[in-house]
Amino acid sequence: MNKEIYKRFGISDRVLEYAGSIEEKLKSRFAAIDETAEYNQLKVIKAMQDNRIAVECFNTSTGYGYDDIGRDSLERVYASYFGTEDALVRPQIACGTHALALALSGILRPGDELLSPVGKPYDTLEEVIGIRPSKGSLTEFGITYRQVDLLPGSIFDYERIKAALRPATKLVTIQRSKGYQTRKSFSVREIGELISFIKGIRPDVYCMVDNCYGEFVESIEPSDVGADLVVGSLIKNPGGGLASTGGYIAGKKELIEYISYRLTSPGLGKEVGASLGLMQSFFQGFFLAPVVTAAALKGAIFAANIYEGLGYKVVPDSNESRHDIIQAVELGSPEAVIAFCKGIQSAAPVDSHVTPEPWAMPGYDSDVIMAAGAFVQGSSIELSADGPIKPPYAVYFQGGLTWPHAKLGIIRSLDNLEKSNIVKF
Ligand SMILES: *Cc1c(COP(=O)(O)O)cnc(C)c1O
Repeated sequence: MNKEIYKRFGISDRVLEYAGSIEEKLKSRFAAIDETAEYNQLKVIKAMQDNRIAVECFNTSTGYGYDDIGRDSLERVYASYFGTEDALVRPQIACGTHALALALSGILRPGDELLSPVGKPYDTLEEVIGIRPSKGSLTEFGITYRQVDLLPGSIFDYERIKAALRPATKLVTIQRSKGYQTRKSFSVREIGELISFIKGIRPDVYCMVDNCYGEFVESIEPSDVGADLVVGSLIKNPGGGLASTGGYIAGKKELIEYISYRLTSPGLGKEVGASLGLMQSFFQGFFLAPVVTAAALKGAIFAANIYEGLGYKVVPDSNESRHDIIQAVELGSPEAVIAFCKGIQSAAPVDSHVTPEPWAMPGYDSDVIMAAGAFVQGSSIELSADGPIKPPYAVYFQGGLTWPHAKLGIIRSLDNLEKSNIVKF
């Protein structure tokens, strides 16, 4: 490690020495991550070559966006990468929640039932589904919801899942990443086993995977192991940090068609939707996404090892295999959460001079502190951290477009904890 450049950021020798010793230990794990990134990089290049991507794909369209070759080619590239028949990849999809809501409302009809066999879905989906009463929810349209909780140890409860598959069940939703819950994130192989089990009982039921934060972490995707639909956000992994908005849904042709009628309008479907000059960033971001995801993954593993080594509880732990890019660290006090987030902020290329403070954010039951110095607002593939100011005083840390930036962020968080006398060497 080149200490001199870190000194210019005011980082202490003790912190640098400790961080250097941790990095040294991680060489073989980082090499394995680089291997996955290499494999996925080539998969993306093959998908782009097979679909004959050319400079005219970066042209813009406005208005209706009829015959937009860039948009249509990008959707073929996503379909090739995910091994699906078709895809929707659009700037008109505002975020991951929107993509998931579109998929659900595109497929489900009054009287149908949605099943989550992996416990409670991501917070924002509670209102989409109507788990928390909400205007416009699926409940208002007469769509019912059933949930089977995980057994201790994040194990699928196959017996109950079997019982929950009822004649009305049309769609099963499986969330890959734990999001902000304490359960494990699932590997693609585990998701494949669950899908096989479900299809063994009800081959006609559709299986959708909320793929947020999981793309490119492994060398296969849920669509390679039987998922009928995979859904995610472009300001997370697949946008590679370059996409400034957007979401994707890849899957069976018939399902994508139904969903496209919800995105635009019955009759119009995929034919309309201007690309607004964003196609180059969507293609280039997807091209970079395998190595960007690898950088974020290294940051997560580095943080786990740094903080576990100092006696903090980290989830996933320092040795666990990874299925998404999120790292939780239980810091145990409000002061520590604040010092950590200030350290992350001070490492940012943008807004490094601002000081994050806890505040009462809408939708949360405690104050929350957020650190992000991002090029794209709210982008969580960029280095970011947030922590609710309540026990167990955990911070959730994710992203980093490059490994050196993720590393600097974690080192600065640690340095700040040391300077605040919370961590002592
Ligand atoms: C981020 C995320 C979503 C969607 O969130 P948006 O903020 O709407 O993009 C859904 N599910 C999971 C697991 C996520 O991590």
